[in-house]
Amino acid sequence: MRRRNLLAVLGVTAAGGAATAYRVSQRDSDENGGTGDDQNESDGNGDDESGSEESSDESADDEQADDLEERLEGSEGMLVFTYDDSPIEDYTLTYQVHKEYDVPGCVAACPGWMQDDGGGEYLSPDQLREMYDDGWGVMSHTYYHRALGEIELTETAQEGDDRIYVEANRHADIEEDPLVIFDDENRATATVAGGGSDSTGEYVELAEPLEETIDASGHVRYPEEFMQDILDDTDAQLEEWGLTVVGFVYTYTRYHGLIEDLVRDHYDAVANHRFGGGHNEIDGLDPTTMQRQYIETDRATEEEIEEFMQTAAEDDVLSIVGGHSQFETITEERLEYTIETALEHDLAIVTMEEALTELGHL
Ligand SMILES: [Zn+2]
Repeated sequence: MRRRNLLAVLGVTAAGGAATAYRVSQRDSDENGGTGDDQNESDGNGDDESGSEESSDESADDEQADDLEERLEGSEGMLVFTYDDSPIEDYTLTYQVHKEYDVPGCVAACPGWMQDDGGGEYLSPDQLREMYDDGWGVMSHTYYHRALGEIELTETAQEGDDRIYVEANRHADIEEDPLVIFDDENRATATVAGGGSDSTGEYVELAEPLEETIDASGHVRYPEEFMQDILDDTDAQLEEWGLTVVGFVYTYTRYHGLIEDLVRDHYDAVANHRFGGGHNEIDGLDPTTMQRQYIETDRATEEEIEEFMQTAAEDDVLSIVGGHSQFETITEERLEYTIETALEHDLAIVTMEEALTELGHL
């Protein structure tokens, strides 16, 4: 069913065989709904046009590849929509608008938030699964939205201090998290006890006094193993819900330091390796160093979106846009305008997985 979407977008008339496949695909998808294991394998609903149960994975892959080609035929380029944080508005607003145009997006999900959610603030696993079954992509946005990039100290942290001053106190979010505080020469471990800000600036409270002095040129981050576990746990939870994770979106645009290597080792794609941009040159593309353009009304004017789509169509690029459905600056009107402008420029709106498949990176 994920293959169906772009036919409409591109105005490509489905050939008889393909149309049959889509119908089979949709039926199979419905029948499989809920279990999820089939999805993990090959994203492979409808892998047999005949209805036989014995079609091979190989033919499913071939068919899928053919189908992607068909959907991209006549397009001027590919565009991936990414939406962060898995808020309920991804379902109630953004998904509904995308459905009007039969085009997919990608949810950069925080499965810990989704799982703990008691108040309907985030997507339920079933809602995300419904979107996924309808052709949407799923990316990792960390388990609980921790900032994985290192953050600069703003003051020297003296031996015996139980507070470090930092450029932003993101690491204070979750008590008992382990930290590494380091400069060029020294390194100390610590445990988060809280955080706040005073006249000196933002700080992270530590459970025990520091055992080393760390220079003001230093940084704080999570330990490597802890970050590795976060990435693993995020994927494992999403996969347990029957979702295949393709790609990563950094939280808080905090992407510096050790995490950069860990993320690039872990994922096939990064949508916000650095801030800004959004047109990623296909020639020599490294999908783990891509950038995206925000589409919120306070981040881009209609004229800028029009220009963005024009360049996306004219240049040989993979284009990525991003947004936060829960922000007031993502409105139905803005979503419609962005999608319509992309379609007017004959851009094929695809998932990250489809884009990477097309470009030979998966
Ligand atoms: Zn986020």
